[in-house]
Amino acid sequence: MAAKPRSARAMKPATFESINPATGEVIGVFAQTSAQEVDEAVAKASVASEHWASLSFRKRGIILRDWASLLTREIEGSAELIHRETGKPLSDARLEVSIAIEHIGWAAKYATKVLGDQSRPSGLLMFNMAARVQRCPFGVIGIIGPWNYPFFTPVGSIAYALAAGNTVVFKPSEFTPAVGAWLGESWKPVAPFADIFTVITGGAETGAALTKANVGKISFTGSTKTGKLVAAACAVNMTPLLLECGGKDAVLIDRDADLRKAAEVTLWHAMANAGQSCIAAERVYVHKDVAERFSNLIVEQAAKLKPGYEDGANYGPATMPSQLGIVKAHIEDAQRRGGRFLFGDKSAIKGSFVSPVILADVPEDSKAITDETFGPTLVINTVRNMDQAVDLANNSNYGLGAAVWSKKNGKRIASLLKCGMVSINSAFSNTAVSSLPFGGIKDSGYGRTHGAEGLLEFTYPRSIIRTRFPIPINFTTFNRSQRADRIVMSLTRVLHKRRRR
Ligand code: NAD
Repeated sequence: MAAKPRSARAMKPATFESINPATGEVIGVFAQTSAQEVDEAVAKASVASEHWASLSFRKRGIILRDWASLLTREIEGSAELIHRETGKPLSDARLEVSIAIEHIGWAAKYATKVLGDQSRPSGLLMFNMAARVQRCPFGVIGIIGPWNYPFFTPVGSIAYALAAGNTVVFKPSEFTPAVGAWLGESWKPVAPFADIFTVITGGAETGAALTKANVGKISFTGSTKTGKLVAAACAVNMTPLLLECGGKDAVLIDRDADLRKAAEVTLWHAMANAGQSCIAAERVYVHKDVAERFSNLIVEQAAKLKPGYEDGANYGPATMPSQLGIVKAHIEDAQRRGGRFLFGDKSAIKGSFVSPVILADVPEDSKAITDETFGPTLVINTVRNMDQAVDLANNSNYGLGAAVWSKKNGKRIASLLKCGMVSINSAFSNTAVSSLPFGGIKDSGYGRTHGAEGLLEFTYPRSIIRTRFPIPINFTTFNRSQRADRIVMSLTRVLHKRRRR
């Protein structure tokens, strides 16, 4: 058969497959959305944004609640898809969807309260003016998502951006396009008109095109490395940016902690979702007086964990195969530098599954301490006291989350930690509390999703000042009188001059 002419081949749209990381099954074939198609999607979303922004908070809230209700009815379908596309256990997938739905409900309910117009005091000098602040949507929000929580994480931006009156163009990770596309389809039955929430599939190039498109803001969740590229791309057009990047969360265990509970929850904190959580526990700093007992308790429980894809498995495979090389390198580096295996060893990686690895006495400059591992591994290092634990926890390029275990000193220790989120005698719980902002500092990013801060993030403030009634003295004119000048000076002295100390 004669080969097709070049032009016909070039017209064929580029596609990619989504693969189940546990079984190799092809889940679907998706379009590599081109830069031109990205621009077209953004242009349509921009037109739709005028209409969407003109609806009241109440009206948008009703539509978002309808969406939450539809997602609740369809929970089994979306959870099954998350399970197949990421490999995580079905029950984890269900939990992920439930928490995401909770966020949609919260954003729908609180948008009016958080984003409604506020009146502000106008001050003595401008007492005849009425001052207000309005929160305005940006227009189109470009959302770029990761694969580890392909439903929960993007919804944490999508719901809040929509509730604030923006339209959304969302690019899911190339490892979880089916979940992203499913989310887009789930919106359609409740959408009052087209182009409010659009999903575009593709890889890095599609994401890069979105950062260069005519969007009002980008919300990026992913690795720090990509986050820095996104920040550089956004700088060109001064596009505002929300960055939710990687982490290296520390767990601090004081001598008075409930050790059994701390061991149970920290094991889950480190190993759930095969350690593929931005806020996974990766480093433990435990007080020397209880280090041995804590280590024994956590090892005892780690021995019961079963990675796998079948029912009853505690966690699934590495969703992104290239992460396995990083996990392996961190384990080997830790051991080479004197780290001791408390549980598991270098043979923990079998195919795409990694069984739990717990190391102790790992030097603070090794990769397992400095870099994000993103696998079911945990380092337990012993400290003299909690001040040393705080210093070591803070000595990181990352600043996402942390956990503190102590009966008496939890609040004090938490107040010393340089990161965006701290849980005391718990782990991960802030993700399910919709009113709490989520995000970090340093290499973990900037800006916040969730809560009032997450709603504010998708708006900019517009100050409005209005003359309520005229006054005989006018300051804002070339005809300002000497009397007006004297009044300003007198008022300033009355208001601000203090006697010298
Ligand atoms: P990644 O950086 O590889 O990819 C994230 C997204 O960026 C993907 O959709 C990808 O296609 C896109 N992308 C890649 N190159 C791009 C470019 N040049 N311009 C624009 N977009 C581009 O991250 P990942 O492996 O998908 O996700 C795992 C990472 O995400 C981990 O580091 C994890 O800690 C982090 N994460 C952070 C949070 C948080 O809230 N802080 C939540 C979940 C995951």
